[in-house]
Amino acid sequence: MKFPEQSAIKYPSLTPLVSRWMKEIWINGDQIRSIFEEYGSPVNIHNGEPFKNNIEEYRQVFNQHSLKHTICFARKANKCRFFPKEANRLGGGVDVASYRELEQCLDLGCNPDELVVTAAVKKEPLIELAISNDVLLILDNEDECCKVNRMASRHQKKIEVGIRLSGFYVNGQKLYSRFGFDIDHAAEFILNRLGEQNELDSIQFSGFHFHLDGYSIHERASALEQTIDQADILKRHDITTSFIDIGGGILTNYLSSKTEWENFQKELQKAVKGKRDPITFRNDGLGYKLSDGKLWGEMNVYPYFNEISKGTFLDRILSHTTEKGKTVASLLREKDIEIRIEPGRSLLDQTGITLARVVHRKKDSNGNWLIGLEMNRSQLYSSSTDFLLDPVYIPMSDSLQKSQDVPVYLVGGYCLESDIILKRKIVLPTLPNIGDVICFPNTAGYMMHFYETHSHLFELSTNLIAVRNSKEFIRDEEIK
Ligand SMILES: *Cc1c(COP(=O)(O)O)cnc(C)c1O
Repeated sequence: MKFPEQSAIKYPSLTPLVSRWMKEIWINGDQIRSIFEEYGSPVNIHNGEPFKNNIEEYRQVFNQHSLKHTICFARKANKCRFFPKEANRLGGGVDVASYRELEQCLDLGCNPDELVVTAAVKKEPLIELAISNDVLLILDNEDECCKVNRMASRHQKKIEVGIRLSGFYVNGQKLYSRFGFDIDHAAEFILNRLGEQNELDSIQFSGFHFHLDGYSIHERASALEQTIDQADILKRHDITTSFIDIGGGILTNYLSSKTEWENFQKELQKAVKGKRDPITFRNDGLGYKLSDGKLWGEMNVYPYFNEISKGTFLDRILSHTTEKGKTVASLLREKDIEIRIEPGRSLLDQTGITLARVVHRKKDSNGNWLIGLEMNRSQLYSSSTDFLLDPVYIPMSDSLQKSQDVPVYLVGGYCLESDIILKRKIVLPTLPNIGDVICFPNTAGYMMHFYETHSHLFELSTNLIAVRNSKEFIRDEEIK
């Protein structure tokens, strides 16, 4: 097996960062054969070791800053039962966003004290389940507060809740979000409406929450600083903020080379301008557009290469110096506020791969090789326009004839012209045989599950969990 490095000049490579456990699977052809025989294609394989390391990396950063903290895995980034269970076993929490996510976490034995409900829409059964299990609800708007208050009082309970904030000021501009209470009115609402003395007397404020779109450290740190200011305002009225939850969205780095990442963008721009042959299916600009001979827009993809990611990213937020000349970390310490995060994607870094079998090879009418895979686009798809990592080719027959690199497109099983698994043209070391395998590395965060559909009544992909050093696998459904 090899990555298509030698063709870097013609079709730019994007070499993924990969883990040893993945390589051990790739070299074991017999094992792959029996996995496909048993489970069909495609198959997602997960490994808990990197998950543990990722949690540990965040924990270390918090400890370096001597901060009380909770790390909640954002359940929505992957469907497997394994990860919430594992998060709980490792002393972390889980951020759930629906009734079934909450129910499943409770069934898996997750500690209710470490669960948090951030669902965008909270129906009564979800609120009911949270209240009866004393799970923290993060509230988004006034109607929601009234509803939760009503239900808590029906249970004759006084419950603690978190309040979601938005509308932070960054460089004099308000950051827009459809979620949460506007920061300009939140404190007033909490002081006048929530708690014992007020109308909504069955819910009591216990902390703030926000989750920002985008990956700006400056915006994140500034939002945290402004949230601490809100806690100060409440403190003057004897209301304690016991936690601030800064959500997820901590950057992950997927690629091994900055040069490759920059080169890819240059080549893509050239191709869209017609200055070289296309490097994407039908010269898709992945967000770049040509209009009046000029290039517009930008790539509409996740930023796959990041020098600052995971622990370093978190450390930068906590080390941000506030207007008062202190770091946000020291303010949190002084005020005895616990910090919480809800990473989804970044905790799943290096934890999963997707394997699919080659079903046919053909040339299209433009002379491009199309490699048909036993999978569909929804099984490797997020809101990112393309998954920008080189897949790994795993030949399954022993008689690998020496041949030249072959540029191909990988296509899938939906009856849609657009069912192209990767928009990028991929260079394989040879034309694959039927039954050979393509592996997409590092797909656990959003890529494999978030948009997976049942169209054509296809079965959903099988999810396996590697145990005993990837010598054995169990189906995720068997996780109890
Ligand atoms: C999506 C989401 C997360 C997780 O975001 P990642 O980018 O996967 O880390 C955390 N909290 C909330 C409220 C979210 O909506």
